[in-house]
Parts: sequence; C-alpha cells; structure tokens
Amino acid sequence: MESNIINEKIFDVEKIRNDFPILHQLVHKKPLCYLDNAASTQKPKIVIDSINDFYSTTNSNIHRGVHFLSEKATQKYENTRTTVKNFINAKSEKEIIFTSGTTASINLVAQSFGKKYVNEDDEIIVTYMEHHSNIVPWQILCEEKNVNLRVLPINNNGELILEKFNELITERTKLISVVHVSNSLGTINPIEEIIKIAHQNNIPVLVDAAQSIQHTSIDVQKLDCDFLAYSGHKIYGPTGVGVLFGKEKLLDEMPPFMGGGDMIAKVTFDETTYNELPYKFEAGTGNIAGVIGLGAAIDYVKSIGLEKIHKHENQLLEIATQKVSEIKGLKIIGTAKEKTSVLSFIVENIHPHDIGTFMDFEGVAIRTGHHCTQPVMDFFKIPATSRASFSFYNSLEDIDQFIIALKKTIEALS
Ligand code: PLP
Repeated sequence: MESNIINEKIFDVEKIRNDFPILHQLVHKKPLCYLDNAASTQKPKIVIDSINDFYSTTNSNIHRGVHFLSEKATQKYENTRTTVKNFINAKSEKEIIFTSGTTASINLVAQSFGKKYVNEDDEIIVTYMEHHSNIVPWQILCEEKNVNLRVLPINNNGELILEKFNELITERTKLISVVHVSNSLGTINPIEEIIKIAHQNNIPVLVDAAQSIQHTSIDVQKLDCDFLAYSGHKIYGPTGVGVLFGKEKLLDEMPPFMGGGDMIAKVTFDETTYNELPYKFEAGTGNIAGVIGLGAAIDYVKSIGLEKIHKHENQLLEIATQKVSEIKGLKIIGTAKEKTSVLSFIVENIHPHDIGTFMDFEGVAIRTGHHCTQPVMDFFKIPATSRASFSFYNSLEDIDQFIIALKKTIEALS
C-alpha cells in the first residue's frame, strides 16, 4: 500500500550517497540496503581520505616533537579539538577530552568523578533505558565504594517516568547519568527538563549522546549539562575515537583517570604533577588519525546541516513506521511521542535473529539482539528485537527494499 505521507524533498539523497563508497555494492546479489546506522555509520570519502592523507603525508606523534611532521600532526589534532568545541558550543578547548568512544568517556567520569565526589552510601541515578555502557561503569563504582545505583523507570511506550525522580533523588544523589536518545527504542529523552530537575537539587548530569550527536544539534552551554559523551563512529567518523565534554571547573577538580606520558607536568620519584586540561585526561599516544578523521566527519555533517538531516531521518522513520504497522503480527517496541531514527520491532512466533539472517539474503542490513540494553528487553519481556535504524543517506527506495524483504521474510518463516 502506498504511504499517504508526502515526502518533502529535503536534499538530494542520491548525490549524498555518492559520497559513501561502501553503499554502492551488491550483497547476496542485491543492492546493499544499510539500516544498521545505530550500531555504526558509514564513512564518507572525505573522512577516509583524511585518514589516508594523514598516514601518507603527516604521520608523527603529537605534542612532544619539534620537527615539521610532529608540529603538523599536532596542529591537525588540535584543530579537531576546536572543531569539536565549536560543534557542541563548549566554552573552551580545555573542556574537550579525546577518548576511544562513549564507553571510555563514561568510564572516565565514573572512575575519576567517582573517586573525587562519591562516597559510601551515596547514590547514582541512571535510567531503565541505558546502554550497558551507562550501567556497568556505575555498577563497578558502586561495588568499589559501596554506593547505590538507582534507576528511573520507563512506561510501556518506552518513555521515562520523570515524576519518579521525586522518589529517587535524595541528598545522597551525586550524579544523574542519562541517555539522550535510546539506541533500542529511539526515544528522545527530555534532557533539558532532566538537567533542570537535577540542577534544582545541585546534582550534575552526564548525557550519553552516542545516539543523538548525529541526528540533532547539541549546545552544551544552552543545555547546561555537566558532562557529555559520544563516539566518532556513530557520526560518520572512524572507530576508536570519541569525546568527553566536561565543564572546566569539574574536570579541573577531578583526578586523572590514567597515568602515563603527556598527562604530566613533572615526574620525579618523590612527586608527580599533572598537565593542564585537557591533556591531564589524555595519557599516552591517542588515536591521532582517528581524531583527525572525526574532525573531517564533523565538517562533513555540518556542510549538510543537522536540521536537514534530522528532518529527512524523521520522514524515513515516519514512513517506515506506518508501513510496518500494517504488517499483521508485528509489534513495534518503542512508541514514544518523541522518537528519532530507530525502529525496533518483534514479529509473532519468529525469532529476531531469524529475521535478521533472512533479511541479509535480501541485501538488507538490520541489527537483531538486545542492543546492549538487556534491562529494556526484560521490561518488555522479550529476548531481543529486530532494529532498523536510519541515516540521511537512506532513501525511500531503502525503505521499500526493507519492507518488501520484511514481508518476504515473514511469509517464509511463518
Ligand atoms: N550509548 C549508547 C546509547 C549507544 O548506542 C552506544 C553504542 O551503541 C554506546 C553508548 C556505546 O558506544 P561505543 O561502543 O562507541 O563506546
């Protein structure tokens, strides 16, 4: 059945797809339909070229050299810090720490902030829809320091029940760590409101932006979040690189997470003093090429415009949602009012893994499993979902290919 949603042409998807070499291939003799963007996004040629160019012309270690290549590499690396700072509107480059990804950023805060500010019987609040990487680091801290992890519940649509903060927040709450967009439900959480509630109680907030940074523009000063974490590979950049934003005052007071080269001012056997921000938190040789690739990715995303990206992806989600809703026996998991880019579903009597495997033969890449959100699966009393997740390089043809493949899969496996 034809969708009755009129697709407003926001930009030329075909032209954009030409920027992504990987998209132009056959999988099992079918055109690749890549709908696993929440797991990792594909890379535009400009990002691939920037990494190739770094290793071909500039490769050298940063910060410690006086020679030409080292200075050039340092300049490119630090230029990306400025790009990231401007992208999220941080006040200063000192607030931008390069890590290996969201997971590393959250672990850094859990360990360093935890060491400084969290004591026995204190409490940390997370939500029911967190990715494991925003649960387990806190559980480790809780075990180490005898701290309690408290969990904000969700409702049947996969939305946070904000009223429950009243019962959860106490004078012992030291941090609220919350996901901006859920990777398994697609829910956009009202982080502005959450930050407001937290700050009224003098509690800092960490925002896991792994699934929002690529879909919507984020202004950390306007949000007033205390920490924000994201991964390069979810925003069309390389794997193994990510960002931790932290307010300078907090980062300044926090102890280093890892010790080693680059993070020190002076080392003697009697005493070691630490480097200034942000280097205090960047021990050892980082992913220099990855950081430079991330800079290229952010420039690329900015050149397209997050507003247009958000609009296009929302149209794809809306159209796909309408079309799958017409399929008998299919249930969407995650029906929040505010959603973006993620369509999770189950089909009566068919295991999601079978759906994913069968769809692969049709050239359609979706993800199946618990998506590193096992508590969400437990809440809905399901083992797993099938998940299609959209990017601005997905077209209406992709949605058609996905729907046809899904119908064929269900028919074959029913
Ligand atoms: N948080 C969310 C919401 C995610 O979706 C993911 C990855 O899927 C992560 C955190 C972890 O990201 P990474 O594996 O890049 O560290």
